[in-house]
Amino acid sequence: MRTLITNGIIVGAAGSTAADVLIEDETIAAIGSDLGASGLSADQSIDAAGRYLIPGGIDVHTHMELPFGGTFAKDTFETGTRAAAFGGTTTVVDFAVQSRGKSLREGLDAWHAKAEGNAVADYGFHMIMSDVNDDTLAEMDQLVAEGIPDFKLFTAYPGVFYSDDGAIFRAMQRTAKNGGLIMTHAENGMAIDVVAADEVAAGHTDPYYHGVARYPIFEGEATNRVIRLAEAAGIPVYIVHLSARDALEAVRAARDRGSMTFAETCPQYLFLSLDDMANGFEGAKFVCSPPLRTADHQDELWRGLVKDDLQLVSTDHCPFDFHGQKELGKGDFRKIPNGLPGVEDRVDLLHDGGVVAGRISRERWVEIISTAPAKLFGMYPQKGAIAVGSDADIVVYDPNAKRTISAKTHHMDVDYSCYEGRTVQGRSDIVLSRGTVIVRDGDFTGRRGYGRFIKRAAAEYVRLA
Ligand SMILES: [Zn+2]
Repeated sequence: MRTLITNGIIVGAAGSTAADVLIEDETIAAIGSDLGASGLSADQSIDAAGRYLIPGGIDVHTHMELPFGGTFAKDTFETGTRAAAFGGTTTVVDFAVQSRGKSLREGLDAWHAKAEGNAVADYGFHMIMSDVNDDTLAEMDQLVAEGIPDFKLFTAYPGVFYSDDGAIFRAMQRTAKNGGLIMTHAENGMAIDVVAADEVAAGHTDPYYHGVARYPIFEGEATNRVIRLAEAAGIPVYIVHLSARDALEAVRAARDRGSMTFAETCPQYLFLSLDDMANGFEGAKFVCSPPLRTADHQDELWRGLVKDDLQLVSTDHCPFDFHGQKELGKGDFRKIPNGLPGVEDRVDLLHDGGVVAGRISRERWVEIISTAPAKLFGMYPQKGAIAVGSDADIVVYDPNAKRTISAKTHHMDVDYSCYEGRTVQGRSDIVLSRGTVIVRDGDFTGRRGYGRFIKRAAAEYVRLA
């Protein structure tokens, strides 16, 4: 099967160029300025005039079917990866969960079972470690060898995912030996629980107080702490879903002193704010952790993206219906399932708010949605690049089309959108996953089970800008 894409502009992290792309089966076979004119025969042709060709988006932070607060995140690997594909994302890396007292293996097997035969596009896994002990430490080595080289630990959620400093440090010592990467959810969960209990005792039970209780300084403190622990262990560390100026300051200081510290932020921290949580129980739609911050943090996060103190943007996609799921926390914000839908909107939001708004170049946009995630998470250049030999994960992207985001038209299996009514410029017209068109002009043309598990290598510890 040969596919020829002509007349597009290839936008890559390192530059843009007008060129045709020839795909043979699942991989990119040739790139050249005149492939279309050379009389080459192809089974299908795509005319990409006026549009970009970008490497498929990579979202390295999703939670399909995550059990949380007595319920489950609603998207399955089928609905979640399909929604991702509509939004130009062709690879997700999801978090398998080790349940307390169980092995990492059991958690991993459960996630393979959720994804295999269901995902419509490619996927990998990180591993959430809930217990750090001799057995789970030994299992880490095995997982690294199986292409699951990242382990997420939490300084938040006491009694659930929380690990103390000793446990985190032990896991870090292990990755110093096995080449894995420690990822951390860095908020001081112990201190947050004290403030949250005080707020509830004072009668402040609305969702808004979820945002109030989780001080930015608690994120800054925990971020600095895990970075320092990683430096002591002599390992790189990756901070997930960085939301606050205080945490960015810790990351920036670490990178300035030469520390191998990496961090992501998410669209919700760039485009939404604490004000969105102020509308009574409607605010539950925006309950996630870390919480939305006051709007003055947003410019600082954009600056972090421009200057590469933040290397990429992922979504932390973790959708719960407003009706029936978020409502579990009526009367006590601590019982609202934490998480927002977002996997479908990331690429367009970053194009609109980043490129169209003049904050970042289109090349930097591609870097933060695709190339940097591929490099940091051991998939480059199989993913994250339009290059000969790479997987033909290609998005034909219209940088001028406008669309209005709405729960009525999105493909995520959730009953609301955080961006309801927002118009964005930029849209994925045609989406190819390993050479197969899986979305074309708003129609899904892929199939359930097409997605493949991506065995990943250790991260490339390079400065990415
Ligand atoms: Zn998460």
